[in-house]
Amino acid sequence: MIIILFGPPGSGKGTQAVRLSQSLGIPHISTGDLFRFNVRNRTPLGLEVKKFIDNGMLVPDSLVLDMLFDRLKEGDCQHGFLLDGVPRTIAQAKQLDRFLETKEGFRLVLFQLLLSDESIVQRITGRRTCQTCGSIYHIETTPPKQAGICDRCHGLLIQRTDDSAEVVRERLRAYHAETKPVEEFYLQKGILHPIIGSKSPDEVFEAMKGLVA
Ligand code: AMP
Repeated sequence: MIIILFGPPGSGKGTQAVRLSQSLGIPHISTGDLFRFNVRNRTPLGLEVKKFIDNGMLVPDSLVLDMLFDRLKEGDCQHGFLLDGVPRTIAQAKQLDRFLETKEGFRLVLFQLLLSDESIVQRITGRRTCQTCGSIYHIETTPPKQAGICDRCHGLLIQRTDDSAEVVRERLRAYHAETKPVEEFYLQKGILHPIIGSKSPDEVFEAMKGLVA
């Protein structure tokens, strides 16, 4: 199975991607996570993309696609995968479509998480992410048992540099300008399942699981 998760920043894509990939046994491919790994390790790619990420801007398509297709060629992706945060532009969607045409016998499921801009800002500015395992918390709605420490692996919880109120506004602008048209494209094709993203993580997960069963 190949799953693609769409939705604005902070709509719960990361949280649901982890749960779905575990329950279906397919790798979770997040271009945001791959970029952050490169930034943390100061690779040439990381140094090149840092300024885009820190300012809430989209990374140029060619860098996204090279990195994505390199990852999708790895062995663990040959029996399916889940994409989180990609495609984000029409150009990325077209390249991905071409790549998917070469894959036979896969079921393709696309989800669109829906959430208002107001809820997004509230969610993202309270979000804390584990530096070690990537688990996601919210200081008000889903706090860790011990402040600043991950329940799962005891790693340090940090606020992503691009989760500040100012950068979130730019990320939302990029989402509405660049990514919304991609969602509209798949919606018109009739292959995108809209999911209400304001429900609890458990409810959202159940709704998605029902559609991939
Ligand atoms: P995310 O973790 O998905 O919210 O991504 C964090 C940041 O990484 C985004 O704000 C972009 O700067 C960059 N990024 C991640 N995926 C993409 C993509 N598919 N296209 C362009 N930029 C991306």
